[in-house]
Amino acid sequence: RTQELIDISERRSAHNYHPLPVVIHEAHGAWVTDVEGNRYLDFLSGYSSLNFGHGNEKIIEAAQKQLQNLTLTSRAFYHDQFAQFCAGLGDLTGKDMILPMNTGAEAVETAIKVARKWGYQVKGVAPDRANIIVMEDNFHGRTTTIISFSTDPDAHDDFGPYTPGFKIVKYGSAEAIREAIDADTVAVLVEPIQGEAGVLVPPDGYLRQVREICTAENVLMIADEIQSGLGRTGKTFACDHENVVPDVYIMGKALGGGVVPVSAIAANQDVLGVIQPGQHGSTFGGNPLACAVGNAVIDLLNTGEFQARATRLGDLMHARLNELVGHGVVTVRGRGLWAGVDIDPSLASGREVSKALLALGVLAKDTHGSTVRLAPPIVISEEDLMWALDRLAEAIESF
Ligand code: PLP
Repeated sequence: RTQELIDISERRSAHNYHPLPVVIHEAHGAWVTDVEGNRYLDFLSGYSSLNFGHGNEKIIEAAQKQLQNLTLTSRAFYHDQFAQFCAGLGDLTGKDMILPMNTGAEAVETAIKVARKWGYQVKGVAPDRANIIVMEDNFHGRTTTIISFSTDPDAHDDFGPYTPGFKIVKYGSAEAIREAIDADTVAVLVEPIQGEAGVLVPPDGYLRQVREICTAENVLMIADEIQSGLGRTGKTFACDHENVVPDVYIMGKALGGGVVPVSAIAANQDVLGVIQPGQHGSTFGGNPLACAVGNAVIDLLNTGEFQARATRLGDLMHARLNELVGHGVVTVRGRGLWAGVDIDPSLASGREVSKALLALGVLAKDTHGSTVRLAPPIVISEEDLMWALDRLAEAIESF
């Protein structure tokens, strides 16, 4: 059955992904079951979309209740979940206003548009002169504008002509930002930790320096917290580790509780106030089902339980992973319940290790050749976490 379903999928879908050979049928908490009845521990969490686990009771309850009542109004009208969502997410981020969208890439596009408009209307940049500073090895999504400033050839090449207005600088270097900023710079767009690049953590103090430069130069600091935010690193936002508050937060993934796509940007009135009716939007952005699910997610985050759990379990995970350094593992990076594990390339590739892990009952995914990234649902039990890390050691030993 597995092979038949894979064959049809490969024949009838574009090959824009290279999935591991498993066909998942159902999932609860941190565990998934395939169509053959085999169980696996999920160590990817939908690229951090499932921070609160598969089928989280509170999220599913909110979704089911909302499904019975109202699912879509469009933004032509108000609906009764919208106010709570915007006020709740505004309070969580400490910002005045929210602009809801659906996917992460749409929220990044939204932040880019808002920063440009702010640049022209508030900062006084001359028409069409705005530039935004972005980082090498960034990952912000797949739209034509976003891939215009990707430095990954797979993401970028042969999709031109490209959107102008971006300056690419080295990630982790405040000096590089200082050198690139000019009078037309409207924003610095940064991932507080670069997830897709391999869970790259910038040097201590980097985010604080970015904040200081942006404040001094009257430039918006935009933090893409789509993958790093909402509990994953042990704080609500990865920026919190340096007590940094960006001008714009970009959120997605876990905001939809692993149920529906929900993304948003959060900013204060002096920034987000530049958007007026007709200038931006989305038919599904901020729909009642999305807001009800988002409200459940915000309630979970407001307890602080998940942030504390990601810190505690993250410490255990990193302590165990560090023991593997020198035993087939070259480096381990990350924060909280999130890690990039570089496998010794003379032993095996990240994909080979991920396949060996699959055979041992753990779902993880490689990135950039030799890295395996680990991001289990925050609800995972300590016992399951340690069991899976032992399987990782076993998988590496098998080469
Ligand atoms: N930004 C970051 C930091 C991401 O990790 C991702 C997805 O991996 C995105 C943006 C794009 O999100 P989406 O795939 O929902 O468009």
